[in-house]
Amino acid sequence: MPEKEASLYTVLEDSYVKCSVCPHRCTIRPGGKGICKTRINKNGKLFTLIYGEVTSTAVDPIEKKPLFHFWPGSHSFSISAVGCSFKCPWCQNYHISQVEPGDVFADQLEPERIIELTKKHGCKSISYTYNEPIIWHEYVLDTARLARKEGILNVLVTNGYITPEALNEVAGLIDAANVDVKGFNEAFYREYCKAELGPVLDATAEMKRRGIHVETTTLIIPKLNDDQKDIIELCQWHIEKLGPDTPMHLSRFYPAYQLSNVPPTPVETIVKARDTAVKEGIRYVYVGNVPGDAGENTYCPFCKQLLIERYGYDITQWHLTDDNHCQKCGKSIPIVGTFERRPSRFSRFALD
Ligand code: SF4
Repeated sequence: MPEKEASLYTVLEDSYVKCSVCPHRCTIRPGGKGICKTRINKNGKLFTLIYGEVTSTAVDPIEKKPLFHFWPGSHSFSISAVGCSFKCPWCQNYHISQVEPGDVFADQLEPERIIELTKKHGCKSISYTYNEPIIWHEYVLDTARLARKEGILNVLVTNGYITPEALNEVAGLIDAANVDVKGFNEAFYREYCKAELGPVLDATAEMKRRGIHVETTTLIIPKLNDDQKDIIELCQWHIEKLGPDTPMHLSRFYPAYQLSNVPPTPVETIVKARDTAVKEGIRYVYVGNVPGDAGENTYCPFCKQLLIERYGYDITQWHLTDDNHCQKCGKSIPIVGTFERRPSRFSRFALD
């Protein structure tokens, strides 16, 4: 297993070290690892155990990240490592997020190889995804730097648990981020994620402030984070800090990992949460994991015209001008990039 000296740590007394990549800011004894289990203190030096350790690669629709307002219809080259700074009991990717380096098979891929594969598969972007990419900091930095030089976009799919120092290093290389804001309740974050909500909110707002294209996702889980008061407060924060044009995704929970005994979120709960978000003033609110629901579509917030019809990750109708204005009322719609007509099982277009 490769080891590379980590960035962003300080040496303390008696060869202890303090990592500053995520807000846990772990103090690690000699021989010990941080909460994410991917950083080890060896004789007073901190090493990452996951540099170049790639556990999965996939060519995904950008809509799967989910990013609905960023190069719609394009493909993204998705890569992951192992580990996470959170301990969410509903994690669908627990087989890579809640294990340690060496527990699962990983290919050793240099950043150059990721660029080659991204080009080979005709992908517009690289997504650092599936497990938490913030703890993959050194590798994400090197790969993103190379991608930027090659005109490839960089996407983070993240829990947003990043320190200002780490964000400062990576922000200039990241084009878009989907941040999981898992709920709007500190007690919920502490009990289930074993982390704090505040730093997630601060980092998400800072990403937006720095010009990164941001979309948020909230998985609504029955009885855990579906309180109407919390959803209203989440929407109010979203509008105040990210603005009403920042897309919000509200996803339906399905039983997984340690919550396999919790039933799926009723569709009515998701639809009600979406209605609440729209009523609060968020202009682009999407439902996730409810294929075929009208909440997957984009409507013009001004004239209500259907602009983009989706089925799951597929775009099935497109009614925007080439420069992303509503074809009916002419208002500008905040979408980064142009539509790439990816072949789709559900497309009603003639794919030329
Ligand atoms: S990345 Fe976060 S969890 Fe991992 S060692 Fe550093 S501070 Fe701890």
